[in-house]
Amino acid sequence: MSSNKKENDKDKGHHTPVSIPKAEWDSSMLELAQSQFLKAAALMDLDENIRDRLLFPQRTMIVSFPCRLDEYSDVETVFGYRVQHVLTMGPTKGGIRYHEDVNLGEVSALAMWMTWKCSLMHLPFGGAKGGVRINPQKMSRPELQRLTRRYAMEINNMIGPDKDIPAPDMGTNAQVMAWIMDTYSQQVGYAVPEVVTGKPVVLGGSHGREEATGRGLVYLIKEAADHLNIDLNKSTAVIQGYGNVGRHATHFLDELGASIIGISDVSCALYNSKGLNLHEVNDWLEKNSVLQGFPNADEISNQELLELECDVLAPCALQNQITADNAPYIKCKILAEGANGPTSLEADGILADKGIFVLPDILGNAGGVTVSYFEWVQNTQEFSWTLEKVNNHLHKILVHAFQRTLVRSQRDKIDMRTAALIEGISRVAEAKLLRGVFP
Ligand code: GLU
Repeated sequence: MSSNKKENDKDKGHHTPVSIPKAEWDSSMLELAQSQFLKAAALMDLDENIRDRLLFPQRTMIVSFPCRLDEYSDVETVFGYRVQHVLTMGPTKGGIRYHEDVNLGEVSALAMWMTWKCSLMHLPFGGAKGGVRINPQKMSRPELQRLTRRYAMEINNMIGPDKDIPAPDMGTNAQVMAWIMDTYSQQVGYAVPEVVTGKPVVLGGSHGREEATGRGLVYLIKEAADHLNIDLNKSTAVIQGYGNVGRHATHFLDELGASIIGISDVSCALYNSKGLNLHEVNDWLEKNSVLQGFPNADEISNQELLELECDVLAPCALQNQITADNAPYIKCKILAEGANGPTSLEADGILADKGIFVLPDILGNAGGVTVSYFEWVQNTQEFSWTLEKVNNHLHKILVHAFQRTLVRSQRDKIDMRTAALIEGISRVAEAKLLRGVFP
């Protein structure tokens, strides 16, 4: 905590003043999630009572807690969230995001998308999401561990294998899940691997979970390409983001013979019209950790990357990337959303007019939560599946969801996002009606 001594000693530690959330619900992401939902609700003529119940999450929790930094006298106040959108379908499910922009509205939007995603995949879960408003890149490993354990304690009563099962999301990974699993297990006195998914395999994680989101996205790109008569072996692809989703999607697209002409990470975007050599890229990243400076490609801006002419464009980074401003200049045939919420509602209309085929986020990135479901099933049955079995089941579930969405989109003449949302919303609405209102 600041003291006069600290005031004079600013170089030590990296204490940042607490950022006070002025408007927790005020989030463009929540506005987007709600407008997408209301558009689908109107088209499907959703019961008004059910519509209003689904516009906001059923349970939300905001916690503020202390995190001791490596500089022992520095204690930062941190805000954390856990949101459960729908409790009707079974336990709630969704990742935990560490990012400096996280607020209640953003986490609620992400939880709502998890509900539709799980329902579209026919998984027995409602949607949830968690978040902590910090920049994990600025924290040391011991700081991250202390932060994670304290956050896990703060939400300890809200989570549980039959209640709410966290997983990784942006800024978190298998190690963070291991710390949460350990913290939870310490409280009950025995190991509870099934309280989180996306764990390291040795702690009960599933084979194939790490790469599942990227792999699933590429399974769906293959379905979309077959539908549009695009030969992926002769295609070009651009991937925005080289984190867990983007990196694996790039790898699997390359395996199918697509020429990867553009990629990006936080440092820059790269373009090579003849296709990037991924071995060279990965070697470079091992030594330099960021893409910037990679010799065998041109550095371009993020905007230029998104506007490259290509067969497949996969936004796998942040939300709000394709908007009314740049949608007119998007020149891909398939837009494959690996990120959550990368496209605005106005952009959706523009892309539809341009005839771009969209694999919407709740379908495109559903491979992650689907293998998370397999992980939870394996843990509760104390039985482990082979990678082959995981991938076969993943493929079956994703292709089935793709087909249902495509049929609805063609039959009702609506875009793929709205079709996917209606698929998801209608099962939740049916379940809510069947369960009725208590008391
Ligand atoms: N965070 C991922 C998502 O947005 C995965 C959630 C999970 O595996 O539960 O879908």
